[in-house]
Amino acid sequence: MKKTEDEWKAELSSEAYNILREKGTERAFTGKYYQNKGRGVYTCAGCGQEVFQSTSKYDSGCGWPSFDKPMNVESVSEQMDKSHGMYRVEITCSNCGGHLGHKFNDGPIETTGERYCINSAALKFDKEN
Ligand code: FE
Repeated sequence: MKKTEDEWKAELSSEAYNILREKGTERAFTGKYYQNKGRGVYTCAGCGQEVFQSTSKYDSGCGWPSFDKPMNVESVSEQMDKSHGMYRVEITCSNCGGHLGHKFNDGPIETTGERYCINSAALKFDKEN
């Protein structure tokens, strides 16, 4: 899926554009989903691909929506991110390449041990009816 930056800018909110296309980060404890406990599926705010499930969401206390695994292995991609003087694993949507967040290894030990730390503004929540 290829769009020009002008096309992305026209269709995304300025906040979603900053995160998805410019790899920005929303401020902790400000996003619309970090406290969301509803049942459903989280899709990429850029292209609508399903990326996380509510059953994988947990309260990490970090101030961003946190998941212990993606929807499936094909739904997200990982890149080494060396920005800001750190080595981090960047998580992007595998369909549109939008920046979603980062993956850390301080997740719940009783499941995967991984924490997918994801910006609310990079997601859309489809509530299960
Ligand atoms: Fe996407």
